[in-house]
Amino acid sequence: MAEVLVLVDHVDGQVKKVTTELLTAARRIGEPAAVWIGDGAESGKAALAEFGAEKVYVAPAELNDYVVAPKAELLAKLAQDKGAAAILVSATAENKEIAGRTAVKLGSGVLTDVVDVDADVVTEHSIFGGGTVTHARVRTGVPVVAVRPNSVPAEAAAGAAVEEAVSVDVSDAAKAAKVVERVVQEQGERPELTEAAIVVSGGRGVGSDDFSVVEGLADSLGAAVGASRAAVDSGWYPNQFQVGQTGKTVSPNLYLALGISGAIQHRAGMQTAKNIVAVNKDPEAPIFELVDFGVVGDLHSVAPQLTEEINKRK
Ligand SMILES: Cc1cc2nc3c(=O)[nH]c(=O)nc-3n(C[C@H](O)[C@H](O)[C@H](O)COP(=O)(O)OP(=O)(O)OC[C@H]3O[C@@H](n4cnc5c(N)ncnc54)[C@H](O)[C@@H]3O)c2cc1C
Repeated sequence: MAEVLVLVDHVDGQVKKVTTELLTAARRIGEPAAVWIGDGAESGKAALAEFGAEKVYVAPAELNDYVVAPKAELLAKLAQDKGAAAILVSATAENKEIAGRTAVKLGSGVLTDVVDVDADVVTEHSIFGGGTVTHARVRTGVPVVAVRPNSVPAEAAAGAAVEEAVSVDVSDAAKAAKVVERVVQEQGERPELTEAAIVVSGGRGVGSDDFSVVEGLADSLGAAVGASRAAVDSGWYPNQFQVGQTGKTVSPNLYLALGISGAIQHRAGMQTAKNIVAVNKDPEAPIFELVDFGVVGDLHSVAPQLTEEINKRK
């Protein structure tokens, strides 16, 4: 069976959940082979084996000294050397750039923001603000596929995770942009927005930069906090938390929208959530067209009651 390369997302040797989802998807297509760039593979190997990685290709940490280009060169080389059937990466901003560059090097096609993929590498996409589902397939070369986090449920299946050191002669062009400094972003206790299973977002309806009503509900659920652009543009919440067309794309199991009208640009970033709940005082708000459960009411009254009830049941 042909190998399916899966670019591993990891932090300090911990494999991110999205990688276990990619390995699950890879098993539908062929034999999953994880590609680990940098240190820490020893500690992450068990998680890769648990989700079916038959191989773990470990590439040197020096590749991380540059921005995306060397990683694309590595993936393209591995795809050619190993005769890979497909390459899967998570649909983060950085990985989508790696995916595009890899596809160019291979003379193949790239499919991004994929929400599902089948055994024939036919991919599913949610487009036009989530209003339409399309399917696509790469017709030439090794398909490079960027899958959104939380799209494919991770299922365990044992793999051998045989480790093999790999490397690539990085071209001078790929070394043109060097990483000179890394700043660790304050993460806090909450999960990362794009990976969280539950997201609670606040919009203009929150009414001020006091987002504690949103954060309180999020914390009761172990959720990430998001915001609409109106809230971000008002300076009420930092822009890295913006959900939507010009913000982050999230696909959680549960998305709670507090005081968000449901503009098309906001929907574009959250409509693939498995369950959507909204609290809005306007019964005509467009968000109610897509919710599984809607509450017409003042969020400052509904959300604290919800938070209290959830905390009581813990
Ligand atoms: C090119 C472009 C890109 C954009 N990208 C994005 C994007 O990435 N993300 C994004 O979110 N937007 C984006 N927008 C903006 C988008 O069009 C909307 O303006 C924005 O989403 C509105 O945010 P909102 O729903 O918080 O505010 P509003 O549309 O003002 O809605 C506020 C809602 O809160 C309700 N409300 C008010 N008070 C309460 C209360 N006390 N309790 C309950 N409900 C209450 C109101 O009934 C209303 O429905 C983009 C726009 C453009 C043109």
